[in-house]
Amino acid sequence: MFSVNSQFALLQSLGVVRHCFSEGGKRCAVLVTLLCVVGGLSTEAAATPWEQFRAPTAGSPQSIGSYSNGCLAGAKVLPEQGEGYQRVRSERGRYYGHESMITFLEQLSAKAKKLQLGNLLVSDIAMPRGGRFRSGHASHQTGLDADIWLTTLDQPASQQALPELQPLPMVDLKAYRIMKDNWSSSQANLIQLAASDDNVARIFVHPVIKKQLCEAQWTDRSWLRKVRPWWGHYYHFHVRLHCPQGSLQCKEQLPPPPGEGCGAELLSWQPKPASEKKTASAKPVKKRPVLKPLPPAGCMAMLNAPAQNADRDKYAKEQREFKAQSQ
Ligand SMILES: [Zn+2]
Repeated sequence: MFSVNSQFALLQSLGVVRHCFSEGGKRCAVLVTLLCVVGGLSTEAAATPWEQFRAPTAGSPQSIGSYSNGCLAGAKVLPEQGEGYQRVRSERGRYYGHESMITFLEQLSAKAKKLQLGNLLVSDIAMPRGGRFRSGHASHQTGLDADIWLTTLDQPASQQALPELQPLPMVDLKAYRIMKDNWSSSQANLIQLAASDDNVARIFVHPVIKKQLCEAQWTDRSWLRKVRPWWGHYYHFHVRLHCPQGSLQCKEQLPPPPGEGCGAELLSWQPKPASEKKTASAKPVKKRPVLKPLPPAGCMAMLNAPAQNADRDKYAKEQREFKAQSQ
């Protein structure tokens, strides 16, 4: 937790405050926004400074900070389509990743295609400079997290059909059971393939999906340790890579607990029957605003770093075309 004073002190140590007072009004306005947004004092829906960027920074790829509080320098774009995959929800502009993530996704898709697991649909990775989202993802900040739909296609979708695609749910959330009409061994094999990659640190799936994987027969079960249960991942799985070599400011997460994670831990996710639930207290619990930690210094510097020329020019051209069309 950070008080406003300690945020101020931290910004001061980063040289931002000195800047503000020496250069006048505009900088101060930026600072106030920074204090509010990066410090988490704003309302939940306020845009974060990271959402304004349309192009990555130049230079070598660097994942900075932790998965849930960091950023990404020198990001690479996952092309719209490649061997065995297509991007979905591209309009969100979250197809930037660390080079190691782009390579991982391309290799996974090519392998999945060879094994006849279908064409993959890759959703969010990170924004052009990574960083925090106003809502939705808590992680996906360093270009090392990616969401892949569990729905796969026999053939790539046409350009017309692609924006209309919707993922199939794999879990009946109310009944807390797998949806047998949508789930098959292809999904299980795809998750196993991804989890068996040495670059992968963790994979998040809905607890019901983890249960399904635990109950299947596997010759090698060691990869199950990396597959972690988490709510929300019932139509996609989330791949998290280790900190890449050369990203010295990247903060690795502790490894998952030892074992397959198929026993008591998985059981603890199962919703309790209504009779066992505590009765709700009459008094409404007052929600405190959640204070989010400041990004690491390396990320603060990135808020003002120049963009890659090619991407910046491409974005400017798109903007001109858009303006011309709307006139
Ligand atoms: Zn995700």
